[in-house]
Amino acid sequence: MGKRKIGLFFGSFNPVHTGHMIIANYMVTRTELDEVWMIVSPQNPFKKAGSLARDHDRLHLVNLAIGDTPGLRASNVEFDLPKPSYTIDTLAVLRDKYPDRTFSLIMGSDNLPTLPKWKNAELLLRDYDIHVYNRPGYPGGELSAHPRVQLHEAPLMHLSATYIRESIREGHSIKYLVPGAVARELEVSGMYR
Ligand code: ATP
Repeated sequence: MGKRKIGLFFGSFNPVHTGHMIIANYMVTRTELDEVWMIVSPQNPFKKAGSLARDHDRLHLVNLAIGDTPGLRASNVEFDLPKPSYTIDTLAVLRDKYPDRTFSLIMGSDNLPTLPKWKNAELLLRDYDIHVYNRPGYPGGELSAHPRVQLHEAPLMHLSATYIRESIREGHSIKYLVPGAVARELEVSGMYR
């Protein structure tokens, strides 16, 4: 048997919403990936936290969103890494820790054009597959044709964490916009109010 294939989906997940979960579940059920790990980005100590919820609270919400969904997993691997964390460094840590798996990246076509500016971008593109899902209005640019890049047409929800936070602050319902367990926790905890 080959190594298990893990796709990494990075985000601040502040909070996680249905748009994120559609992508995560699409990737794990419709591609060669065996698992998708949702990697919660820690707060950068050099940036103002603003409306960013605490690391562990955001991680907890991702775990609630996942529930018992096969193949999905929340990861706090970046919480203990030097900040800000760079994707290439996180990948090196994961590779060391899990030598029996192969890792690849998941990103929207909006992020693909910025990839050449990431730390050690050449290495990233040399050593890792990149699963890119379409985002309307972002054709993806030159890298769309890169041999390491695989393009996917996933169903999309036009939704952002910013919209969720604003809705909560303004007292509007977020039902259906986040998974039920997440909605309940947000309600009970008073987060983002
Ligand atoms: P914010 O509004 O706070 O900027 P966000 O909803 O964009 O947050 P992130 O945590 O930054 O959430 O998202 C993680 C990843 O998911 C990012 O790469 C982002 O581009 C992508 N993403 C965000 N919203 C959606 C969506 N509705 N559908 C697909 N991908 C999304």
